[in-house]
Amino acid sequence: MNVILLGPPGAGKGTQAQRLQERHGMKQLSTGEMLRAAVASGSELGQQAKEIMDAGQLMPDELMVKMISDRIAQADCAQGFILDGFPRTVRQAEALDEMLAAKGLRLHAVIEVRVNDEVLVDRIETRIAESQTVRSDDNVETLKKRLAVYHAQTAPILPYYEGKGRLVTVDGMKSIDQVSDEIEAILTAAVAN
Ligand code: AMP
Repeated sequence: MNVILLGPPGAGKGTQAQRLQERHGMKQLSTGEMLRAAVASGSELGQQAKEIMDAGQLMPDELMVKMISDRIAQADCAQGFILDGFPRTVRQAEALDEMLAAKGLRLHAVIEVRVNDEVLVDRIETRIAESQTVRSDDNVETLKKRLAVYHAQTAPILPYYEGKGRLVTVDGMKSIDQVSDEIEAILTAAVAN
């Protein structure tokens, strides 16, 4: 199964994607993780990414589309994949549609994990307090920038998929287990269709 998890930074997409990977063997593809690996490697891409990520901005669409296209083609995605952090613009969503059509693949579910901005700010403060290794973009100031970017550039993806009759929304302010249960129910219904 091929699934997209959409939602603002801190909505819990990564946690839910990991659970889906463990339960169903689909591969979690987190573009944020891929970029953080590039930053850690010190590559040219990593240097560009660090600046953009620390500013709470988005990487260029073409670069991200190529990254996902190459990744989906790898053998560990044969059981399906969960996109976590991609697409992030309508341009990326359109390119994903074209890419999947060209590869003969389809999306089984597009799931929005919806969380209010105030709750996200509280969550990031907790994450910083509890985490041993704080991400350089994990601070309230950058989160606020990332939320503004989310509303301006990523949220327009929601009507894009809604218009195609693809979007299902879950309440990301419920407990992690409750959100997982809702996602499982959506995937069960998607398989039945
Ligand atoms: P994330 O871990 O998904 O929150 O991503 C962290 C940062 O990586 C984002 O704030 C962006 O700067 C960058 N990033 C991740 N995915 C994308 C994407 N699909 N398009 C553009 N930038 C991205």
